[in-house]
Amino acid sequence: MIISRPQSGKIRTRRNWVMGFLVALFFSAPWVILPSGSPLIRLDIPNRMFHLFGGLFIPQEGLILWFFLLTMGLSLFFFTSVIGRVWCGWACPQTIYTDFFDRIGRLILDSKYGKKDAPIFKKYIVYSIWLLVSFVASFHWIAYFVSPYEMIGAYAKGSFETYFYFTLFFTGAMFIDIGFIREQFCKYACPYARFQTLLMDEHSWNVTYDYKRGEPRRDKKTQIGDCIACNMCVVVCPTGIDIREGLQVGCVACGKCVDACTSIMAKENKKTLIGYFSLSQIETRGPIKWIRPRTVIYAILLSIVLVGASYKLITRLPFSMIAANNKSMPPVLLTDNRLRAFVSLRIQNIDPNEQEYKIEALDIRHNKKIQILSGEGTTFTLRSGELKSFSVVLETDVLTASEISESFIPGLIRLSNAHDPSLKLEKALSLKIPGT
Ligand code: SF4
Ligand code: SF4
Repeated sequence: MIISRPQSGKIRTRRNWVMGFLVALFFSAPWVILPSGSPLIRLDIPNRMFHLFGGLFIPQEGLILWFFLLTMGLSLFFFTSVIGRVWCGWACPQTIYTDFFDRIGRLILDSKYGKKDAPIFKKYIVYSIWLLVSFVASFHWIAYFVSPYEMIGAYAKGSFETYFYFTLFFTGAMFIDIGFIREQFCKYACPYARFQTLLMDEHSWNVTYDYKRGEPRRDKKTQIGDCIACNMCVVVCPTGIDIREGLQVGCVACGKCVDACTSIMAKENKKTLIGYFSLSQIETRGPIKWIRPRTVIYAILLSIVLVGASYKLITRLPFSMIAANNKSMPPVLLTDNRLRAFVSLRIQNIDPNEQEYKIEALDIRHNKKIQILSGEGTTFTLRSGELKSFSVVLETDVLTASEISESFIPGLIRLSNAHDPSLKLEKALSLKIPGT
């Protein structure tokens, strides 16, 4: 386990702001309820509803999920190729919480933090605070799936549902991971760390050592390179690597070595040897080449996916319907040659507000209305997120001999918003004529 030395500096201050903002966002988002009454973000798995920024999504909207995953993947490709592993050093929960745990450790144990001879009693105080932080963070993580108000209400009544056990599990996992596994996760377990080197090239903007100025390092006898071999960049590194040996899987691009070298070099009246540069910048001393085949291809793919996703979101209907012939009740041809068919419907309102709907049935080949005889009525109201499953009985007009000989009626069920008929969803149904 590596306990690195703290390091102040410009990058540290900027990271504090970014990390503070992200942590505040993470802890506040599950508590926000919009004026419509729906949560800002909630992945309600038991009810199969995903509330995202005022929109309600359901698993049947697979294309939107597909666009979302594709956007995430391509963004990762694009941003890594342009600005390297900024995610790791500035936004990854592993880095943020390891940093936070270190602050707690130093606050209680001071210079004894991470040392074998640290007072046992104080060590247990640190572990207790880590556990508490892990519990609070896990509670908020679970709050993205279950309402935090509901959880608190249940805990207050002494009721411990499944989510409580999940919270305990994540608390234990976080305590062990952040408290003891720490940088080993980034170095050996994180899949992103493994393939990031494939996404970057010599033009990617990353934490880099200026070996042209720094090497050969100075020692007591020589005065050649600018690097004074103070090793500060190594002792402040949270993953314990030496950036002077080049780009490594272990580098999370946190910039601590940049701050360390900046302060050391300032004493020599020189510019830092470690900074956010590209490798080719060090070679050529020219500007960073942002536009190159790799970044252009990723940008084009990302733009195509974003346009597709935006189109899908804009044209998305705020309700869904599944319509199917009722298998246990086949259609019946009545004595006066009317066809009676039984249809099962499953309709969900995915608008953030309550809506009124209307259903109609049509014979599309002959462009005739089919009567809806029974069921829940042809107009009904659904609350936001409400799902209604019911059956309807359809009855055609008297069929002619030629219609009967066609063996089926190509039907259609239309669901529309009662106040805005332009919002409509149609599902085709084949109503089989028995005995044909
Ligand atoms: S080498 Fe520098 S940027 Fe990379 S992890 Fe270590 S301190 Fe952070
Ligand atoms: S902090 Fe700078 S000067 Fe010191 S060893 Fe690292 S690169 Fe060299």
